[in-house]
Amino acid sequence: MVVGAETFQFQAETKQLLDLVINSLYTNKEIFLRELISNASDAIDKLRFEALTKTDLLENDDKFEIRLETDKDARTLTISDNGIGMSRDEVIANIGTIAKSGTKEFREKLKDATSDKGLIELIGQFGVGFYSAFMVADKVSLVTRKAGEKDATYWESVGDGQYTIDTTERSKRGTTITLHLKASDPDSGIEDYTDSWTLSNIVKRHSDFVSYPIISKEEKQEPELDEEGKPKKDGKSITVIEDKTLNSMKPIWTRSQSEVTESEYFEFYKHISHDWTDPLKTISLRAEGRIEYQALLFIPSKAPFDLYYHGSEWGLRLYAKRIMIMEKCEELIPRYLRFVKGIVDSADLPLNISRQMLQQDRHITQIRKWLAKKVLDTLKEIQEKDPEKYLQIWKSFGAAIKEGVSSDFENKDRVVSLVLFQSSNDPEKLTSLKDYIERMKPEQKELFYLTGESRTVVENSPHLEAFKEKGYEVLYLVEPVDELVVDSLHEFEGKSLKSIGKGTVELGSEEERQKAKQELEEKQKESASLLEFIQKRLSEDIKEVRLSNRLTSSPVCLVGAEHDYSPQLERLLRQAGNTPKQKRIMELNPKHSIFLRMQERYEKNKEDLMLSDYAELLLGYALLAEGSELPNPARFNQLVVSLMVKNF
Ligand code: ADP
Ligand code: MG
Repeated sequence: MVVGAETFQFQAETKQLLDLVINSLYTNKEIFLRELISNASDAIDKLRFEALTKTDLLENDDKFEIRLETDKDARTLTISDNGIGMSRDEVIANIGTIAKSGTKEFREKLKDATSDKGLIELIGQFGVGFYSAFMVADKVSLVTRKAGEKDATYWESVGDGQYTIDTTERSKRGTTITLHLKASDPDSGIEDYTDSWTLSNIVKRHSDFVSYPIISKEEKQEPELDEEGKPKKDGKSITVIEDKTLNSMKPIWTRSQSEVTESEYFEFYKHISHDWTDPLKTISLRAEGRIEYQALLFIPSKAPFDLYYHGSEWGLRLYAKRIMIMEKCEELIPRYLRFVKGIVDSADLPLNISRQMLQQDRHITQIRKWLAKKVLDTLKEIQEKDPEKYLQIWKSFGAAIKEGVSSDFENKDRVVSLVLFQSSNDPEKLTSLKDYIERMKPEQKELFYLTGESRTVVENSPHLEAFKEKGYEVLYLVEPVDELVVDSLHEFEGKSLKSIGKGTVELGSEEERQKAKQELEEKQKESASLLEFIQKRLSEDIKEVRLSNRLTSSPVCLVGAEHDYSPQLERLLRQAGNTPKQKRIMELNPKHSIFLRMQERYEKNKEDLMLSDYAELLLGYALLAEGSELPNPARFNQLVVSLMVKNF
């Protein structure tokens, strides 16, 4: 079917992005070439991979290459490849929209980013790939023919919000992109990209490792030769044009580390990650022996926007003897380390290995183990030697790393030692468990923590009062993943973790604790009848009412039994399915004047209606204090109002 020329509007956010690019916010203009070459190289990778099973896609042309051609008079630069190409629909889908970034998140961020700096950072984080061509070109056109198809597609845009598509012809599969260049202008960083020396330098700087030849035509002056092939004595020089390969094509991971510069590693990172910012750390590995492989891993400087999405893809690039066989191989790195980018080149894998085979492959399993350990060791090293850098890593990826505590049984200790928490010790500084232990009081046997919605809620929770007063440090576990962490982490270096929202607490020296316990038991006996009365009144929500030393200024709080879920976890579980409601334990502060007044009134009149209202009010207070919702806010308000009226 042949469809004629059609004009389309860019998707709204694509247009917005395009305006940004055209307005030249990004200073390093030459990277447009890196992006287009990177796309060409990806396209050849894809073709090569598909051709492993469908050899006829190659159409007898397996001399893969990327060509740069210039026309000084027309001021054009052309980049062509003989890769997989695109169908008409693919052109619309891939070039008319921001493929990987057309998500809600990206749109919202784009809306929010009002300053130029914010926008540049945003572009850095998402990359604009193909659109970077508009930094240096007034008009971009593209001719592409998908491998295995007959028709080719023409696409053209001047970056004004619309593009034109038409059907055309191309003798072979692949893609040709023509840039109608803007005038070179040193002030805005636009060079003359029709100049072969300039192009050659840009390729060396940004794309040297690309595994296909990047070829440009070079004009050379050669002396005229005589019959024997020697230069003629008074011969003229003649102009010859020949192909010149601009890149070394050497896979960067096969070169010795000392020979590769940091910026070469960074360029490679940008090529494989589609990220425009430099990574924080490069890790190079080589194993010889029973299993032979090389790996080059990177820790990015920022989390991708979809790091915490369910179902987002991750994985390392997998090569078998230099040939890429999979772009995102999840089997190479555990999910909790999904932020790590990089490649693995194995000498022991067949080229046509399937996903299913991969999952069972012994080599892959072994490589994955080594890589996980290496990444964890590297993180540890950064934590010890460069705490500031580690903090940056932790802020971006910490919540993912924490998942490893419950999912990576084998490396659990390694992961735990990397984990940082908020704590009552410092309003801002995070702490490791090891540092917490160093600050523990001599008689303290457990690591105390409290889970909650946010630092503010936890910090103001009544549960904390006695700990604050007596100077015990409490970890604040305020991220959703923390529930999973404590659930699978019962102890650290021989010390158990204890939630201060569960069970009973006794603080102080052995002697103090005994004394306090005894006193409390006596008071408890004295007030048994009142406590029972309150429990009956609140029996729908409360399974036990008791006195406690946990509180100093608050009248009441709710706690769980030792093995109950925390209220946050219960809420999560309830959202996921129908977990039965858990009843809580109510703890009253025996020194608080509310309790003392209640006791007085109860002794005078066991039927006092006010006592029943007070029981309800106490429950409401306790729920609000821990950040939980009231089951019936209207009822609570009614009680408060009637109380306000009475005592006014
Ligand atoms: P990214 O490379 O991060 O996906 P780009 O904006 O660079 O984003 O490219 C968008 C998409 O356009 C690519 O994912 C690819 O599907 C398609 N594309 C771009 N250039 C080519 C090309 N030379 N050959 C085939 N497809 C291409
Ligand atoms: Mg790209």
